Amino acid sequence: MTEEQLARLPAILFEVGKLLGSDQETGALLSRLSELCCQLLACDSCSVMLVDARRTELLARAAWGLRTEKVHKLTFSMGEGVAGWVAQRAQPALIDDVSGDPRFLVLDETPRTPIVSLLCVPMIARGQVVGVLTATSGQRGYFHPSDIELLGFLATTIALDMENLRLHRVAVTDPLTGAYNREFLAARLPTEIDSADQGERALSVAMVDVDHFKDVNDRHGHDVGDDVLCEIARRLRAAIRGGDLLVRYGGEEFLVVLPRANAGQAWEVGERMRAKVSASPVVVGARLLPVRVSVGIAQYRQGESASVLVRRADGALYHAKANGRDRVEVA
Ligand code: GH3
Ligand code: MG
Ligand code: MG
Repeated sequence: MTEEQLARLPAILFEVGKLLGSDQETGALLSRLSELCCQLLACDSCSVMLVDARRTELLARAAWGLRTEKVHKLTFSMGEGVAGWVAQRAQPALIDDVSGDPRFLVLDETPRTPIVSLLCVPMIARGQVVGVLTATSGQRGYFHPSDIELLGFLATTIALDMENLRLHRVAVTDPLTGAYNREFLAARLPTEIDSADQGERALSVAMVDVDHFKDVNDRHGHDVGDDVLCEIARRLRAAIRGGDLLVRYGGEEFLVVLPRANAGQAWEVGERMRAKVSASPVVVGARLLPVRVSVGIAQYRQGESASVLVRRADGALYHAKANGRDRVEVA
């Protein structure tokens, strides 16, 4: 550790501690963490990759300083590339010149920040590799062996928090669509109601149900139906704001929680969801499947329970179905 690094360390650890105690979403948290790693090592870029649920792949989750537009799409299999090597062996890799290292994969499609030397360390929690932290430099031999300990220390500090975040995320996520599940809704909707009450802010929910979805299953099979459902969830997510919550409520029903939205604003979101879903047919293999949704909106009325609110949205949805489907109704 150089003297400069030693001088920077307390401030950076303080920032890391603050970060882990905050309730930022994982992506923003990891971006800031990458930035702090960059500052600590005074290097060109830092990135975080996390092991996926099946522990077969490493997914890029955040980066700082990398001029790669596609960094979020970057994935390595276990054992592939430097990151995969590090994750598989749970050992750090310090490379003075990547051009002489067979583990380094040159990805030709993406414009990149020039990488000459790099340091990659495993993030280990409860004895398992949960991800890797990578620092890079455009200079040959930029990293010193003592940097392994320094970056490794940061990696260890954050690994358990990352693993806990992941486990929590798994517990509240529907595995098929990636939307939140009912357990999450049961815990979260009352909280949203409380904040609406306290802040005297509006709150609405939208119940979304796929029109004639049974036909998709009947004609094309359940697996195709599953793919269609995933795509619908993607389109719904694209139609809502960052603070809105997409919940898989039932088989082909989604509930969207819209904090700060009154009925009129929620209706606009409902229209946007309806339009996005039906904009183009869903492509599954060679099939082109047109899809439509109906939406029921309810704005929270002070004093009502979460279940009454949801029931009113369901009632509005029923009217949307009765009035011809592919439409939005407000309770
Ligand atoms: P409506 O417009 O009245 O909503 O018609 P619908 O056919 O969508 O209504 P219905 O509730 O009768 O059918 C829902 C179908 O959704 C039946 C069920 O097989 C299918 N479904 C529910 N969950 C899943 C799932 O996870 N995967 C697949 N492939 N199908 C599902
Ligand atoms: Mg339906
Ligand atoms: Mg239904």
